[in-house]
Amino acid sequence: ARMPSGPIPFDNSYARLPAHFHARADPTPVSEPWLITFNRPLAAELGLDADALEREGAAIFSGNLIPDGAEPLGMAYAGHQFGQFVPLLGDGRAILLGEVIDRNGKRRDIQLKGAGKTPYSRRGDGRAALGPVLREYIVSEAMHALGIPATRALAAVVTGEPVYRERALPGGVITRVAASHIRVGTFQFLAARGDTDGLKVLADYVIDRHYPDIKSSERPYLALLEAVVERQASLIARWLAVGFIHGVMNTDNCAVSGETIDFGPCAFLDAYDPAKVFSSIDRGGRYAYGSQPAIGQWNMARLAETLLPLLDPEPSEAVNLANDVIAGYGARFQNHWLAGMKAKIGLYAEEDGDLDLVQGLLSAMHRNEADFTLTFRRLCDAAESTAGDAALRGLFTDPADIDAWLVAWRERTGRETLSDAQTADAMRTVNPAFIPRNHRIEQAIRAAEDDGDFSLFEALVAVLAKPYEDQPGFAPLAEPPLPDERVLRTFC
Ligand code: AMP
Ligand code: MG
Ligand code: MG
Repeated sequence: ARMPSGPIPFDNSYARLPAHFHARADPTPVSEPWLITFNRPLAAELGLDADALEREGAAIFSGNLIPDGAEPLGMAYAGHQFGQFVPLLGDGRAILLGEVIDRNGKRRDIQLKGAGKTPYSRRGDGRAALGPVLREYIVSEAMHALGIPATRALAAVVTGEPVYRERALPGGVITRVAASHIRVGTFQFLAARGDTDGLKVLADYVIDRHYPDIKSSERPYLALLEAVVERQASLIARWLAVGFIHGVMNTDNCAVSGETIDFGPCAFLDAYDPAKVFSSIDRGGRYAYGSQPAIGQWNMARLAETLLPLLDPEPSEAVNLANDVIAGYGARFQNHWLAGMKAKIGLYAEEDGDLDLVQGLLSAMHRNEADFTLTFRRLCDAAESTAGDAALRGLFTDPADIDAWLVAWRERTGRETLSDAQTADAMRTVNPAFIPRNHRIEQAIRAAEDDGDFSLFEALVAVLAKPYEDQPGFAPLAEPPLPDERVLRTFC
């Protein structure tokens, strides 16, 4: 081990893995970096020297100054992009500076995204536009505050240099923190090369880093597959419970740690519609809101394929073992989803009609274009007292269409043991008042791009740090878009 001397006490392990797992790549300096924001609480959680980092923030988080102990590299990975396999992708615009051990003893990656070309950049410029940097910062931090596993945002900078997309845009760099950046695609990269030894090294590394409890299990690689499948099923159930649409669930954007990763054209539902798609690049709707559970299973099947040589020396037995785990994904997802949805409507005991009751509400919301987030938040008030019904009914194009459901719901919640007030309080801990609304994110991006005005960005970050609290001073940020504010497409 090396004695760390800079503001980041690096303790790197991925750089020690076999050479073909990664490629050295230093950030490319930029002309005029400026620090937009620095996440001091996260820096403290990571055990970093926050004062020193903030002083040198523009230089460090732009990649102009490489802190002591960093070993900058791009990670190699493959991936299915919209169902098409690409055997080599890798970090084309992201550079892993290194890892730290946080205050809880957990190893965390610190990565710059948008810091210039790497050996994996292919025809790309290695850069990120400011808009997607701000969106990732806002949404990843909001997901964390919502209680959903997600990468974190440590800092954002503007580079002072343009990036050229359909038009010239200001460039940015986001510093993100992850349990790791190992993806399903990382396993696919080694499997595609026929590198079984490498797969075993990677699997052992992932078990050590993310699933240490299974080290001693009889079939550790089968246990690894089960554990990743379980976390993925749980994660996607949580996405659905807050109306999150990832947008690009390619296998290279699916972290084996179970964290939400790679926030591109992601978005939250306003009106509830299971077929909703925002991403401009998702033309076939492969990654629609309601398709995410099935895609999660598809991605896990791709992971299982890579692990076959490690599961059993007998190929047909390996396939049987893998198939059983993948077949089990559906029940795992359904259990997480139903428990999450039941909690959203204040149900804790188990009764036969619970699934129908949840689906009855969702159907009424769909028919009536009810706002997903506000419906559940207003339902908390309705749980407390019928005085809350009017505001709830007002979210439905035909308010009478929810009345029969409310009667059935009250009959069912009447058989729960909590008092009305206790139920309402419990419901408010799982039904956010605030989500990152697409139109507000777009407004924040436009103000930053056009006027260098980051005030809405900052307000969103502050409000979304406490999404389950009513913050009356910020009431407009809880509201859905007006018709002319509606965002139809998101870009990454
Ligand atoms: P993403 O859309 O971020 O999931 O990226 C898919 C692949 O394209 C990854 O291998 C990225 O590293 C690469 N990529 C995306 N944008 C760029 C860029 N501007 N320059 C280089 N590589 C990129
Ligand atoms: Mg290398
Ligand atoms: Mg990606």
